[in-house]
Amino acid sequence: MSSSPVDGPPTTEAVPPQTADNANPFASNSIPDRVVTGGPEWWRRSFAYMTNMGMSPEERAQFEADRGLKREQEQCVQCEKWRDYNLRYSSSSPLFQKFQSTDTPRTHIGPIVRFLTENIEKIRSDTVSSDIIRCLPCNKFQSGGFSPSYGILLCQNRLLSRKHTEDTLAHEMIHMFDHLRFDVDWMDLRHHACSEIRASSLSGECRWTRESFGRGVWDFTRHHQGCVRRRATLSVRGHPKCKDDVHAAKVVNQVFDSCFTDTRPFDEIYR
Ligand SMILES: [Zn+2]
Repeated sequence: MSSSPVDGPPTTEAVPPQTADNANPFASNSIPDRVVTGGPEWWRRSFAYMTNMGMSPEERAQFEADRGLKREQEQCVQCEKWRDYNLRYSSSSPLFQKFQSTDTPRTHIGPIVRFLTENIEKIRSDTVSSDIIRCLPCNKFQSGGFSPSYGILLCQNRLLSRKHTEDTLAHEMIHMFDHLRFDVDWMDLRHHACSEIRASSLSGECRWTRESFGRGVWDFTRHHQGCVRRRATLSVRGHPKCKDDVHAAKVVNQVFDSCFTDTRPFDEIYR
């Protein structure tokens, strides 16, 4: 079994899967040491930097490095907060309201991450905790990733909101579910395409958008399938074995119908 992570794409960009040749985003040495920021000394340096007064070139360079590290630490804290919230409550997709009990107000949102966690735990015979879902900075245009060896990656510098974190987490958890439930060979393009189709379709990232309300079921289906197909094709395009856009589209086409209709562990696609 390959240990190459499968990437979860951001809103539109293609996501090349990580390979042994790429820097491993899960590597723990990318976690920086703490930088002391704040307090009178930090503000003195900030002011000196902004006004370009009283700072040598070396001190300016050091300040820029410290500021970058500070931003990274803040992003990590925010990402872990969103991650932990979703693991505890999941949240807000109208797509998954049907998972709520009947007496739950419709304004409350369905627990997609909780639902996926429970289903993964049934197969895994172990809990899904924050230990296997790590927040790290990513160099590429991706919001998350899944590696059979390392777990789930959340790209702390790419996540836009708690909702975006929920969609990303759900996407990667569907890859994890597929990995545990089916005999997935991540280096097989058709297997990869199938999991990407399912992850995009079921995670909520292709949900019916607000501006589309009222256009009817047929428009929903067309929008949803188009979005899933586009995102899956972009992900497959980044696979090391994929030759070009035409190749990616062809592989996605080959498996689309059977993978799109396979909604496990959900009963159906909710909208
Ligand atoms: Zn993916």
